Amino acid sequence: MKRSVRGCYQSEGYVFAKNAGEIGKQHGLERVARLASNENPDPPSDKALELGFAALSNANRYPDERQVSLNDALMAAHGNYHFVTGVGMDGVIETTIRTLVEPGELIVVSTPTFSFYRLSAIAQGAGVAEVPRGSGFSVEPAPFIEACEEAKLAFLCTPNNPTGNGTPPEVIREILEHIDCVLFLDNAYVEFSELDYLPLLRDYDNLIIGRTFSKAYSLAGLRVGYAFVPEWFRPYYVRAATPHTLNAVSAAAAVGALSDVKHVKTARERVIKWRKELSGRLEYPVLPSDANFVMVDVSPLTSDEAVEGLARMGVLVRSCRSFRGLKDHYVRVSIGADWENTMCIDAFSRLNP
Ligand code: PMP
Repeated sequence: MKRSVRGCYQSEGYVFAKNAGEIGKQHGLERVARLASNENPDPPSDKALELGFAALSNANRYPDERQVSLNDALMAAHGNYHFVTGVGMDGVIETTIRTLVEPGELIVVSTPTFSFYRLSAIAQGAGVAEVPRGSGFSVEPAPFIEACEEAKLAFLCTPNNPTGNGTPPEVIREILEHIDCVLFLDNAYVEFSELDYLPLLRDYDNLIIGRTFSKAYSLAGLRVGYAFVPEWFRPYYVRAATPHTLNAVSAAAAVGALSDVKHVKTARERVIKWRKELSGRLEYPVLPSDANFVMVDVSPLTSDEAVEGLARMGVLVRSCRSFRGLKDHYVRVSIGADWENTMCIDAFSRLNP
């Protein structure tokens, strides 16, 4: 019966990070530094826990389909914008494609980049135009703009996963000046950077900016994503979304998390400090990063050789082998808690080329 599975799922799927518990058991380690998924090592804010627990007692009711509390909290935090929400930014990406792209139409991505744009588009019958990044993995506007001519929707990830670099807002503006399709700017890691793309929303009604509570806000396990969207887009997104998709506990926790500015500041300061430390202390080239991770060039090792070697020493990082358009000698290392980062630096120093 396996042959009845759709072609797109026969050949590829999302690549998950290895399980820290299993790696620990496999190598007989007491503790493992979890640096493969770009999570926040701090537990959620007390405010998030408080509102999340309170919402549990109402779990006999469906969530508010308009997510008014979360919407209000987002407006209070960011200003008078239009928002949509979803089950992680993954959910927002999937619903955005479902809203805009017919089977057979094209999306554009800038490779190497986050894989889910492609996977979600293919699963929904769309095609994918891949535009390679230029030197230092920077986005070159001209070929990207050209590819957008044939497309319905384009994705740009900034700061980019897995390379870590951000694209300057002026470059995004230049692209927006020349395209007619919708641009989805993935800002999953923007809280760890100095980049600000929100002023662009005033000038372009084909811009969507995706954000997540999984990183800076420590709520990866609750799966909350949102996006700043043009006003015209919102009602159609709501039609396309799975009904009641974002659960009430997660939405309430997100409201609490948004109110705790200190929590995000702590994460941001730790990331900025350790990004610098890693670039100074690893004996392999570390690429400049605006995110809560860095990409490391481990050549002459392959990505998987480095990941295996580090895992044996209790440090779990992400192999970049599966990222399309990237040579096979990079790993992605999340900034973790202090002890994890220290353990990581030590493990790299003992990694044999
Ligand atoms: N975009 C990027 C660039 C990501 O790295 C991730 C998560 N790894 C996501 C989106 C999805 O985030 P979420 O947990 O909100 O689904």
